[in-house]
Amino acid sequence: MGNDGGSIPKRRELVREAARLPTTSELKATALESLSHAWAMCPLSDAPLDPANTASDWRGRLYSYEAILQCLIPPSSTEPARPEAQQAEFARTGVKTLKDVVKLRFALRSDEKGREARACPISLKELGAATRSVYVVPCGHVFAEAAMKELEVAGPETERQCPECSATFVERDVIPILPTDEAEVDKLAKRIDELKALGLTHSLKKDKGSGKKKRKAEEKEKGTNEDARREPDGSRTEKKASKNGISSRINNPMTASLTAKVLAEQEERTKRRKIIEGHRRGEPVR
Ligand SMILES: [Zn+2]
Repeated sequence: MGNDGGSIPKRRELVREAARLPTTSELKATALESLSHAWAMCPLSDAPLDPANTASDWRGRLYSYEAILQCLIPPSSTEPARPEAQQAEFARTGVKTLKDVVKLRFALRSDEKGREARACPISLKELGAATRSVYVVPCGHVFAEAAMKELEVAGPETERQCPECSATFVERDVIPILPTDEAEVDKLAKRIDELKALGLTHSLKKDKGSGKKKRKAEEKEKGTNEDARREPDGSRTEKKASKNGISSRINNPMTASLTAKVLAEQEERTKRRKIIEGHRRGEPVR
């Protein structure tokens, strides 16, 4: 119009500029930044992740193991009360018991600056946002995905051995850490659904709640209610073993006392559930 070489941008043009989609490289930079953040910080405590004190859920997210413990203690027994933001964040994780997380076991090595860094014990690569990493359930050992792939020998159903501790595992239980690929996320969702259907948790330990329900349904079918308290196939010994398994991996006294508290609380909850179920016995489930 004015033909003066300049032009006042119209509103539509301004809006278009503001709503401009980020370029691929901008997206990549942002994604890498948030991935680095997720590798470095616990979303529950907002504190840096300690390699000796890290846990992961079925989605491959990383948390401070201690923060998980703290969040699992009922609010009434924590002082001061947990901040609301932390409670909301914890609710989003879907973690209900210690069985819903696996404590990770990172190999450490000193980097050029003398800092201890998480590393793959096979390839010695530093583990973090730049290296796709996986961990093995239930032992929790962490490896670079590439190194683990090289060791892959047979089909997905074959039992394999953890290169670090020789614990056996199947391909399904190799969990990508902080996966960004949608297909990987879908696979993890499918895995946890399958485990739930089997009455298992992310850590492959029995989900007591669902086991009870299932057993109760079976009893109903048979029409016998009396043996409700009998534990099948020595689940009592399993409980003991898992308790030892957890404590033996705990290296600082603060975490140990927290773990004891959480385990006591879980036991208490199971007891309460038993009592409630006792009352309900004879009534239809749900
Ligand atoms: Zn292992």
